[in-house]
Amino acid sequence: MIDAGHPKFKPFTSQTMKNAPQWSLLDAEHREAIEIVSRVLPFRVNSHVLDGLIDWSDVPDDPIYRLTFPHRSMLRVEEYAALRGLIRAGARENEIEAIVRRIRMRMNPHPAGQTTDNVPELNGAPLHGLQHKYRETVLFFPSAGQSCHAYCTFCFRWPQFVGMDELKFDARTSDGLVAYLRQNPSITDVLITGGDPLVMSARVLAKYIEPLLAPDLEHVQNIRIGTKSVAYWPQRFVTDPDADELLRLFEKVVASGRNLALMGHYNHPREIQHPIAQQAVRRIISAGASLRIQAPLIRHVNEDPADWAELWTTAVRLGAVPYYMFVERDTGPREYFRLPLARAYEIFRAAYRAVSGLARTVRGPSMSAHPGKVVVDGVVELHGEKVFALQFLQARNPDFVRRPFYAKFDPDATWLDELVPAFGENRFFFERDARRSPVLDSPLLARSRLPVAWMDA
Ligand SMILES: *Cc1c(COP(=O)(O)O)cnc(C)c1O
Ligand code: SF4
Repeated sequence: MIDAGHPKFKPFTSQTMKNAPQWSLLDAEHREAIEIVSRVLPFRVNSHVLDGLIDWSDVPDDPIYRLTFPHRSMLRVEEYAALRGLIRAGARENEIEAIVRRIRMRMNPHPAGQTTDNVPELNGAPLHGLQHKYRETVLFFPSAGQSCHAYCTFCFRWPQFVGMDELKFDARTSDGLVAYLRQNPSITDVLITGGDPLVMSARVLAKYIEPLLAPDLEHVQNIRIGTKSVAYWPQRFVTDPDADELLRLFEKVVASGRNLALMGHYNHPREIQHPIAQQAVRRIISAGASLRIQAPLIRHVNEDPADWAELWTTAVRLGAVPYYMFVERDTGPREYFRLPLARAYEIFRAAYRAVSGLARTVRGPSMSAHPGKVVVDGVVELHGEKVFALQFLQARNPDFVRRPFYAKFDPDATWLDELVPAFGENRFFFERDARRSPVLDSPLLARSRLPVAWMDA
């Protein structure tokens, strides 16, 4: 499949976007938005996104444009005006940096607990590049996989892409991971995440993965890779110079008796309808790997249930498995993207109703909150009170999983921490967890958020 005529991966950033042929299609307002907003939030696209995914006749409303390009309303009106004013007046770089930093801090760059919660220890020392939140699955962040083929404007990992994360949240080798796995036989799944681990070459990825195939790590049954490359750069599996080598690596994992599961991030059916994206899915599956698909629900991008139904049915037809619909988490330009939980539930249900049982493997809308992944099961009336029915699909405390609980219906609530218990109770059952400190047990703080990716699954 290697052919000199195939496009080579090349990113465009706010500095180089002017060289893209599509620059001439943007009016002054949108060019300015790119210049101003990308001072605060990361911006990166590539030729596949520009030429193959965005419908330029529909810009700025096009969903893939909204997904990847900065928009002025991602900043508050006064923030945009202040930043624009400084840049237009030719202010000094340190003045601009000061306001950029203020805006970033306002955007909740480090939701509660990121630096300390979930970081496991090996012989008393914290293990960088690992997160262990749910008993059976450990997250691994290889340092060479901390960028992406394009950036999603809603991504909660934005602080790391703009170089704001002082905390080194990545690992140079898998030595620490392997040692940790040896000590923790209850771990069945390793989830390699980023960024996007598939920005790495097959050779570098193999250095991380091959040590996990050791015979004494038999308990590691599933090696998962969270990736958006299936949508943003499907060439990764088809025409990149090491596409075949990557598939051979997948085969090697499968030959060791394990499951190589790609957790593919698709936000919109158009991403999987592109011919090369379909070829990518077929090649992944014919290597013996499995492909599950998941994405957050994002206003302006995928709020139409018909788009979800189409995404799921196309995936199933190609042999992939719908997995999660996530609720957008509480960081970055969230005011621009978020949708109320009640609306998320309606969108999920309308899409779910429209597909066959084979696509109903999908679960959602799910919030990756501090105590676990909480799904909105429905809106019901109980004892004369309108309530949300909720449950944990995944929980820090395994005993919480699949226990129904109820919150007062609130048409505007967008996250678990905005919900209050139904029936006049003053706490949710999981807030009585004995491991909590008295301070954390205050109802407000107890529902603090943890930055766990929608993509982490
Ligand atoms: C979602 C998630 C997982 C995987 O959960 P599954 O339900 O098994 O897919 C693991 N770790 C973290 C931190 C997660 O957010
Ligand atoms: S959502 Fe995934 S692909 Fe998009 S920017 Fe974030 S880590 Fe990268």
